[in-house]
Amino acid sequence: MTSIIRYFLLIPLFLVLLSCTQLQTTILATTAYSTMSDNEPTLDKNQVSPVHDRPDESPTPKVFTVRNTATSTKRPTYTPTASATSIPTPTSTLVVATATPPVTFTPLSMIEPTPIDPNSSLTIPILMYHYLSDPPANADAIRLDLSVSPAMFNQHLAYLKEAGYQTISLQQFHHALAQQIELPPKPIILTFDDGYRDAYQYAFPLLKKYDYTATFFVFTQPIDTYNVDFLTWEMIIEMHQAGMEFGSHSYTHSDLRNRDVAYLVYQLVGSKEAIEERTGEPVRFFCYPSGRYDQTVIDVLDSAHFWGAVTTQWGSGHSFNDRFETSRIRIHGTDSAERLAAILRSIDSP
Ligand SMILES: [Zn+2]
Repeated sequence: MTSIIRYFLLIPLFLVLLSCTQLQTTILATTAYSTMSDNEPTLDKNQVSPVHDRPDESPTPKVFTVRNTATSTKRPTYTPTASATSIPTPTSTLVVATATPPVTFTPLSMIEPTPIDPNSSLTIPILMYHYLSDPPANADAIRLDLSVSPAMFNQHLAYLKEAGYQTISLQQFHHALAQQIELPPKPIILTFDDGYRDAYQYAFPLLKKYDYTATFFVFTQPIDTYNVDFLTWEMIIEMHQAGMEFGSHSYTHSDLRNRDVAYLVYQLVGSKEAIEERTGEPVRFFCYPSGRYDQTVIDVLDSAHFWGAVTTQWGSGHSFNDRFETSRIRIHGTDSAERLAAILRSIDSP
């Protein structure tokens, strides 16, 4: 009897145990599900996202690389990293080089010529002008002497054209001096000192009219300070693009004699770099302010990659050895076309 009672007592215990096991299973299953559902998005992301982000790359990566190199010629940054580097790069560089317009004078200013015979001489008239305008009514003797009227300059150019003179740059002159390169017949160099505003207003249009060029020596302080009597950087850029040559005439037009090197570097290199910054072409020639200089000035010019300098000394015979003391022919305000013709005839047949 007692055993029967015990048996009945065990039944609820068994039921309790059974229900506990089921509950445990449910909990385990739920936990497993919840763990899986947490993992699923992460798993999906890892597997799906590469396909969605780069749908075309994953199936055929090699084909895509080839396509990129073929079509990416417009984007030069990509080309060097690809396998076909050697073919497109030189071609595009060559095209750019040949298409650049100022091919004629850029190489001249870049390559310093080695002299064949530093003593060989060359006779070329280098005319020196200053103001190219009618002088003001109250002009003093110096200003009158330095001023050639536009009408007179027009006559000078008309004479030069008729006589067959051809203007050349100082760069051409220097290359001819150093390497004995043949120049056009009857070469002549026109130079303008100081960079007055009338160079743009009167000289520039007349030079273009006769298809002539000239070399303009500017000192750069009045340009930097927008002095209305002098050229602006915009005018200089326009004139340079039209084939005019620009040289340095220092920064403040000071007497450069008996100065220390630091002062000379400030005056010479400062103005040189200011011009180069605008024209994009190296400045190779200097004009001594008021024709004053000493050996230190020449040494600084030489070390600063100037190739030569012009003085106010009268003369038309030049040699490579004297390249930093190049003589010129001063044109006075009263010099007519006939007077200019007489000067040039005396040079041609001394
Ligand atoms: Zn001057």
